[in-house]
This record gives sequence, C-alpha cells and structure tokens, in this order.
Amino acid sequence: MNQTHFLEQFEQRQILQNGHFRLTSGKHSSGYMQCAGVFQDPAFAAQCVGALLAGSELDVNLVISPAIGGVLMGYEASRQLGVPNIFAEREQGVMSLRRGFSLEAGQRVLVVEDVVTTGGSVKEVLALVEQAGAKAVAVGVLVDRSGGKADFGVPLHSLLQVSLPAYEPDDCPLCRDGRPITKPGSRELSK
Ligand SMILES: [Zn+2]
Repeated sequence: MNQTHFLEQFEQRQILQNGHFRLTSGKHSSGYMQCAGVFQDPAFAAQCVGALLAGSELDVNLVISPAIGGVLMGYEASRQLGVPNIFAEREQGVMSLRRGFSLEAGQRVLVVEDVVTTGGSVKEVLALVEQAGAKAVAVGVLVDRSGGKADFGVPLHSLLQVSLPAYEPDDCPLCRDGRPITKPGSRELSK
C-alpha cells in the first residue's frame, strides 16, 4: 500500500479535508487535518501503523510518545513491534515521565507521534531519552507536515507527507477567489 492509498483514505474518512478554512491561529488554509480520526477506527489505525513500520526494520525494545497526540500511536506501534510502550506528558509545562514510567540506560527506543509540524514535543521526548542514557533509534510519525524541515538527528519515518499552506487573512488566494470559508470540522464542504 502506497502513499496514494492512504491519502485517499484520509480524505474519505475526512481526516484530511480540502476547502477553505479559518484555523484557530486566525490564518486561512486550503486544508485541515485531524489525525485523531485515524484512531477512531482501530483496524485502519493498525493498517496505517503497520505500513509505517513495514519498511523500517527497527531494532528497538521500547516505544515512547508525547501525550496526547502520540499515545494511541505509541500503543499500536508497540503492539505491532511486541515491545513495551510508555508516554511522556507535560507537568507544569515540562515534558516528564509519570505513572511509574521510566527509561533505562542502553534501551533502544522508537519515538512516535501522530503529526509533526515543528516537532517540538518530539524533541522534548528525545531529550528525555538522551538524559536517561537510552538511544533513540528513529522517530515514526503518521503525518509529516514539516515540509522536510523536521530534523531530529535520527531517521524520521512517516506514512504521509502533507503540506497545508496557511495564509494571512488579507493575503489569502482562496478569499480572492471568493470561496466561502468555514471552520475546520464542518462537513458540508467535503463532498
Ligand atoms: Zn481565506
């Protein structure tokens, strides 16, 4: 299964919507992505994560992800790899391991996240891995939205690369074309 197959699935499932959207940042975009939709269907999530892992031949003994976005992805990746799964979360703004989770020196770790744009949360998790003396082997994401800019110092595996342009409202080509704007999540535009 190739990138086209998954892109079509993302559109059919309205995980990726095309139209003219007003984002929460106030900017306008021709597309909107809500990756949580992947995990609404566990069978589809298994297929996506399976395809991501299939080409990567990872030798790891732990999966870690940043909460909340990466948690379900981490669970599915660890289930398929047959290794334990933990997640990191912010405590007073600082990415931390809680709930009895720990990292150990020498562990070979796969870091996963659903979507990366700037990759900030992933970098914070990588820092935790390094602090513990463990080794991050790779980063795996369903969707790389960084446009090739995400650099984690380890191989980045992604199922899809998607670039969604964001425009200032007064410099939006979709506005100039007179296309009606909606808030993300509305379904009527995606026919
Ligand atoms: Zn616009």
